[in-house]
Amino acid sequence: MRKLKRKLCLFALDVETTSIWHNTLRDATGLTVANEAIPSLIDLFHELNISTTFFVTGYFAKKFPAAVKLLHENGFEIGSHSLYHNKENGHDVTDLSTQKEHLRISKDILEELTGEKVISFRAPALRVNNHTALALAETGYLIDSSIASQRFDFFFSFGGTNKLKWLTAPRLPYRTDQNSLFKKGNGQIVEIPLSAYIFPYLGTTMRIFPGLTKLQHYIVHLENKVTSKPVVFDFHPNELVDESNETRKIANRSGNLISYFIKDYLRSKLKQKNLGENAMRLYTREIKYFIERNYEFVSMKEFLSSNEFKF
Ligand SMILES: [Zn+2]
Repeated sequence: MRKLKRKLCLFALDVETTSIWHNTLRDATGLTVANEAIPSLIDLFHELNISTTFFVTGYFAKKFPAAVKLLHENGFEIGSHSLYHNKENGHDVTDLSTQKEHLRISKDILEELTGEKVISFRAPALRVNNHTALALAETGYLIDSSIASQRFDFFFSFGGTNKLKWLTAPRLPYRTDQNSLFKKGNGQIVEIPLSAYIFPYLGTTMRIFPGLTKLQHYIVHLENKVTSKPVVFDFHPNELVDESNETRKIANRSGNLISYFIKDYLRSKLKQKNLGENAMRLYTREIKYFIERNYEFVSMKEFLSSNEFKF
């Protein structure tokens, strides 16, 4: 078994058909992700010698199988980002049997395309509930990366109540409870939490507040020196898609006007910053910060088999 260093980066990506510009799911955006964003990320990762995981929705994989095959052929781990990415199918609002069904179908689609076992999962919009740990275990998964320990979203995202449990979730990777991904236990699933310090350390923050992210990666690096906590950064290939030349209407996914204003309108206005080439430039900057400090970039699967942490 390959011995990994303790300075580890897991820069896993979420692949889906979400258009950030239009604030909705859109096959046309998925097509650009498949044909442009994914190939340019493969080039970047080869150039910088990055190993990582792509969490792909079953829906995306069905629509754009060649892109998933390309990722697999280039040596990247394929994980599941569930079957659908819409709010109604979120893993925080669905029951055990629905979650199991979506986990199983997405796993089957991805395994058929790659010929390899899918063991890693990240929930769409990081939305999970108290059925998700069991649903994952019963469908053959081993790793989850949907918990952002000590992240606080204020009112800016859907699934607010469950996400309050992030505040008390452990920071270092841990074996989860059988019935909760938010706490330690003897369950089957190992949690690899996303990096956060109240604000999440991920692509969206990086694009909206590039200055804050410079402070974040400095703190992430300091924490690694003290506790060896791996750096877990979440990026989406669709952040490389610039659709700002297209006219749009910000979709209302909320039930009332106040919620629409905060969770759809305001959030969408913020999230559209630095899409496309700027996102690629900022993302490359994040990766290089850790390369210069001798971090090794690994996939979720490589992390689990590394024996680096005792679960
Ligand atoms: Zn997603």
